[in-house]
Amino acid sequence: MNRFGYSLSKARVIDYDANNHAVAEYIAEKEPSFRLCIACGGCAATCTTGNFTEFSLREINILIHRGENRKPGSDIRKCMLCGKCILVCPRGVNTRNVVITAREAFKKFGINAL
Ligand code: SF4
Ligand code: SF4
Repeated sequence: MNRFGYSLSKARVIDYDANNHAVAEYIAEKEPSFRLCIACGGCAATCTTGNFTEFSLREINILIHRGENRKPGSDIRKCMLCGKCILVCPRGVNTRNVVITAREAFKKFGINAL
């Protein structure tokens, strides 16, 4: 905190080239609709789990696409596979299968951090 009563956030750099894209590639191969996500947030808005916990499939999709797998590797366990998000996705992403496939990928690549 400085004398102005606020402080600057730490620099947040996304090093896309240095990140690990193995999870994103695995999911896209097994569930190609994963590539169609435009991060609109419809899934997160309707998500049963998201209504009660800090959980957002939109955030998970964005982070996995970036190759930032640490938080998604932990958060993805909260999804209860109810499938409501599939009904609202404007891009026809099979979100439920994305979650199932992402769990497989995190297990395969040893990512379940946090
Ligand atoms: S509703 Fe579909 S397009 Fe929108 S963020 Fe969710 S998965 Fe992506
Ligand atoms: S399947 Fe998972 S991400 Fe989709 S609405 Fe249900 S709890 Fe949320």
